This record gives sequence, structure tokens and C-alpha cells, in this order.
Amino acid sequence: MFTSIAGRAVVVTGGTRGIGKGIASVFARNGARVLITGRDSDVARAAAEELDALAVDPGEVSFIQADVSSREDCRRVAANAIERLGGIDVLCANAGVFPDSRLADMTEDVLDQVLGVNLKGTVFSVQACLPALQRSGHGRVILTSSITGPITGYPGWTGYGASKAGQLGFMRTAAIELAPSRVTVNAILPGNIVTEGLAELGEDYAEKMASSIPLRRLGSVDDIGYAALFLATDEAGYITGQTIVIDGGQVLPETLEAIAAAEAGG
Ligand code: NAP
Repeated sequence: MFTSIAGRAVVVTGGTRGIGKGIASVFARNGARVLITGRDSDVARAAAEELDALAVDPGEVSFIQADVSSREDCRRVAANAIERLGGIDVLCANAGVFPDSRLADMTEDVLDQVLGVNLKGTVFSVQACLPALQRSGHGRVILTSSITGPITGYPGWTGYGASKAGQLGFMRTAAIELAPSRVTVNAILPGNIVTEGLAELGEDYAEKMASSIPLRRLGSVDDIGYAALFLATDEAGYITGQTIVIDGGQVLPETLEAIAAAEAGG
């Protein structure tokens, strides 16, 4: 049994939909006090209400509208978390976008957007929350990276892959810099997880992906949320600068035939 994280103050950027909402839900269901962020306040308000209904103690989930690509917004989020939650124990830097843009056509605007949200947004979020995380005594930074970029590639995602691999480069040095204050910095690398964002890529994409996953299903947001919860526990306090791949085994097979052969063999 792990030490409870009940009462811990948790910030989840991009916690209004998809994976971030799943992470926020797992923390709320385990008694944490959670602040979620997103750019659309109506979506954020509705998500906070929905999550609060699942929380161990009602009133423990709140939201703030903020864009992670704005350093000022990230500072506002941290100040708000300190005011509402009394500090920050866990930062889940999860907000991200995945615009589909082939290299030959990729505009500077698209590249700026994907790096601005996914990479600079990660850095800005961690910087803003840093003093509070250092005061926590068990500060945790949990990044949502991806298998795409750090391990795999996919047409249309050169910019996205660069942003997700960049998060890991950031993480390794941040983990060293923050170790003296006992703040750990780790990253989760999801495979294909069922989210609103993924749904926008179409059914064909989801079906193609499911057939290339040894466990034969796309992941759920809870699959990611529980890994984040583990990294937030006291028991995970000696893990820093590391990655956890959560992909149903997607990156393992050398060929699709390997999956077919395994199934044929029972
Ligand atoms: P999603 O369903 O589109 O949700 C994205 C969340 O991030 C929303 O809450 C969105 O709210 C917020 N967001 C987007 N841009 C933002 C910005 N500039 N500032 C603040 N919040 C912003 O996406 P998802 O599939 O859950 O993905 C979440 C994270 O997981 C991303 O980092 C993504 O790269 C990573 N990931 C996802 C998968 C997957 O299969 N789904 C796989 C690997 C990695 P607003 O739009 O209202 O701002």
C-alpha cells in the first residue's frame, strides 16, 4: 500500500479534456486538491464541476483559464494555486497540441505553435511553479511527453515529435538542478490514448493504431492517470529524470507480422 497523497496540492495544465482530465480525475478520486487549466473557460468550468463530483471531498477541484505558451499566464496559475491550495506539491505539465503538418508544408506559425505550447509551455509551467514545489518537501513534476518523438515517428509530426523529445532533454537537466530541493522530474510517454484530441484524428487512425498494439486496444486516460499518481507518491521519491512508456506494447514489435504471429500462436 502506498502512502496516501490525500490533501496534496496538484496543478494539471491542460486538465480540462483528455489525458489531463484523466490525470486530474485520478488525483481527485484519491483525495488530492486539484487545480486544472486550459484556454477555454467554459470547457474548464464544466470539467472542474464534473471532476469535483468525483472528488473524495467536494470543493477540491477548481479551474483557472490560462495559456501555457504565455509566461505571464503560467505565473498567474502558480499564484492562483498558492492562494487556493496553499502551495503546490505536484505539477502535471500536460497541456499539448498535435497539429498535423508534413515537413514540406510546415509553416513557421505551425512550428512556433507546437514548440510554443508543448516545449516552451512545459518550461514556463515548471519555472512558474518552482518556488512552491521547492517549498513542498515532496515536490513532483510530471511531464506528459509521447512515444512520438522520443521513440517513434509518424508522418505529419516532425514538429510535434521535436517538441516531445525536447521535453525529455529539458527534463534530464531539470531533474539534476532540482534534486537538491528533493523535487523529482519525470515524464510519461503515452502511446495512443482515447481522448477528444485523438478523436479529431479520425476513426481510421484509431483503427490503424489499435491493430499495431500488442495489447490490441488504445489506452485509457486512467492508464496515464495512475502512472502519474504513482510518480507523485512518497514511494516514488527516488525516481527522477526517468520515463515511463504507457502504450500497450506499441513500440515493442519489430514488425506487424510479429503481432500476427503471436496471435496465431495463441
Ligand atoms: P486534448 O484532448 O486535445 O486535450 C488537450 C488539453 O490541453 C486540453 O485541456 C486543452 O484545453 C489544453 N491545451 C491545449 N493547448 C493549450 C495551451 N496553449 N495552454 C493551455 N492549455 C492548452 O489532448 P490529449 O490527447 O489529452 O493530449 C494531452 C497531452 O498528452 C499532450 O501533451 C499530448 O501531446 C500528449 N499525448 C497524447 C496522446 C494521445 O494519444 N492522446 C499520446 C501521446 C501524448 P484548451 O484547448 O481549452 O486550451
